[in-house]
Amino acid sequence: MSTAYQPAASHYVNGTYIDDLDGREIPVIYPATGQEIAKVYGATASIIEQAIQSAQIAQKQWAFLSGSERGRIMVRAAHIMRERNRSLSELETHDTGKPMSETLIADALSGADALEYFGGLAGTLTGEHIPLAGGDFVYTRREALGVCVGIGAWNYPIQIASWKAAPALACGNAMIFKPSEMTPLSALKLAEILVEAGAPAGLFNVVQGHGDVGAALVTDPRIDKVSLTGSVPTGQKVYAAAAQGLKHATMELGGKSPIVIFDDANLENAVSAAINGNFYSTGQICSNGTRVFVQDEIKDAFIARLTERMKRAIIGDPMGETTTIGPMVSERQRAIVLGYIEKGIQEGATLVAGGKSIDGAGFYIEPTVFADVTDDMTIAREEIFGPVMSVLSFATEEEAIRRANDTEFGLAAGVFTQDLTRAHRVAAAFEAGTCYINAYNLTPVEAPFGGVKMSGVGRENSKAAIDHYSQLKSVYVCLGDTEAAF
Ligand code: NDP
Repeated sequence: MSTAYQPAASHYVNGTYIDDLDGREIPVIYPATGQEIAKVYGATASIIEQAIQSAQIAQKQWAFLSGSERGRIMVRAAHIMRERNRSLSELETHDTGKPMSETLIADALSGADALEYFGGLAGTLTGEHIPLAGGDFVYTRREALGVCVGIGAWNYPIQIASWKAAPALACGNAMIFKPSEMTPLSALKLAEILVEAGAPAGLFNVVQGHGDVGAALVTDPRIDKVSLTGSVPTGQKVYAAAAQGLKHATMELGGKSPIVIFDDANLENAVSAAINGNFYSTGQICSNGTRVFVQDEIKDAFIARLTERMKRAIIGDPMGETTTIGPMVSERQRAIVLGYIEKGIQEGATLVAGGKSIDGAGFYIEPTVFADVTDDMTIAREEIFGPVMSVLSFATEEEAIRRANDTEFGLAAGVFTQDLTRAHRVAAAFEAGTCYINAYNLTPVEAPFGGVKMSGVGRENSKAAIDHYSQLKSVYVCLGDTEAAF
């Protein structure tokens, strides 16, 4: 295989590219054409062993540095990522099919944001001093966990790798990252960049593979923490495996999030949010607001404006910078989404836009809207992970909250209204980890991101992530005598 996107070898371990051709072959397919653009091999036991051993050694050196020294290297890596944004975006577009209009602003740059933010925090991480009677005191040390494993989904490969690596490294940990086998390329570039910025070899290793490689990492007793971004079924397996070894765990899983639009909302903004929250990245976003609840009085106006605006979507070559909708990541994912569209029609929802796959090369599908969706329909209950919006209507605030929360998931939720009091009341009532008022799907690194209920445990981004990548040690200091009963 020799295309511009073929990496030097499959894995990046101990500061260098390595391969073991005994691993399972993984073709890398460009979703816009269906053509193979690279090939990597899944990690064998020997590759995994090298990754763990080198990470253990690098972690000790890294944790010995001051937080500021670690932070300086991370900020340098962020600068390199920004300088290379265009080539990293081209790579990400080829790996995922997402259009350049997105990857240029939302992928490597959001990874750089995370490295910069946590690089800045690294020097501020401290324990505390707790005074006690008689002059005794306790001080706490905020210590690294050790070697962390990151496992990624295919929708935001370099962003997920960076969101996990940045807080882990800031706290003095090493990380072994396994990308989704569908999008194995860009995490390798992050590994290169960290070494170039001065990180010790082995601190951030990338190993390729399917779920079996992820499982081998998660169950290894030398691994101290697991952070997964993936589906609920995988999350359940990985969380159970981590529990077996009593390892720390962060689970960023799926969702079926609501956007509730009241009749006093700014309609144009609400339509924009529904478009972003359903069709960005061709709908392949965990926090998408796929259940759009619109108050009865404005339902028709909402659908009319939405379908009018959807005509402006530019579906096509993701390398064209005006393209706004690219293909789905794979033929398999497109088939899953088409299956849900079929179910929506069968179960009686009204198809008001899209609904079909687009002929020709690549895994394209039309952005799709269903109206008259009811809470019991499959398309309103299950995560589709594709460009399919369900519009439901409601009469009262109480009803909207009850139905919005009637789901096993709890990743995100949004409310649109001009009524300030109602906005905060509804946000407080949502059973979701990440809520929005008059906005949707913004994920600044400064804010915690994560789910409740079946959408996950733990938080990524923000200062909250530090608690998930470090542990406190208490040291009791006695200044007096130690007494005993006899
Ligand atoms: P999967 O759950 O299928 O896979 C996630 C990752 O876990 C992959 O790298 C996968 O490898 C790996 N894996 C699978 N089985 C195991 C196992 N037993 N042990 C260890 N690792 C394993 O998710 P997708 O890649 O299909 O991504 C889509 C899902 O991710 C959606 O549900 C979406 O909602 C969720 N997601 C959540 C986000 C969040 O932040 N909450 C963000 C983005 C996506 P392999 O691919 O080889 O099977």
